[in-house]
Amino acid sequence: MTQADIQSVLSSISPSQIASFAESLGRCLALALEHTGDLYSCDHFVEPKYKLGNIREHRMIDLVVLPVQQRFGQAKRDSLPRYCLDCDVRFACHGGCPKDRFTRTPDGQDGLHYLCPSYQSFFRHIRPTMDAMCQLLRANRAPAELMTVYAAEDTHRGRNEPCTCNSGRKWKNCHGR
Ligand code: SF4
Ligand SMILES: [Zn+2]
Repeated sequence: MTQADIQSVLSSISPSQIASFAESLGRCLALALEHTGDLYSCDHFVEPKYKLGNIREHRMIDLVVLPVQQRFGQAKRDSLPRYCLDCDVRFACHGGCPKDRFTRTPDGQDGLHYLCPSYQSFFRHIRPTMDAMCQLLRANRAPAELMTVYAAEDTHRGRNEPCTCNSGRKWKNCHGR
């Protein structure tokens, strides 16, 4: 299954509802409304630069569709460093939340998410399972069927074999307990 296949299946089920992992900020936006009626682009960016207007003077819907807000949403995708553009798990990560992109890429470019190594590790770890779930979905089967497959594998695993979570510990001392 190709990366495009995986994306296609995942997006047909449910586009990311988590703003951090969305490609751009459209439906996932978390607008911030202050007690004064001031509306901001995002609850992480309650700053004058990101103020859209005041709902006592404008309808909220008119503020939400302002071009400046559309640009704010698209900037999440358009500001990614080259390192992210070339990343094999970008389709799942999309660079994380822009407010947390305050470290540098290995080649010195600004704008990398500070949790990048963990994101890469996590998404690469779950990828085989996600691939398998996609295959089940394409066959009109329940992804939960995987649990029976894993349970069967667990029964044959030796207690002293390495744990499947890659912790480096033995199965019996980690998830096999
Ligand atoms: S895992 Fe790291 S390099 Fe890959 S898209 Fe996410 S932040 Fe960028
Ligand atoms: Zn483990």
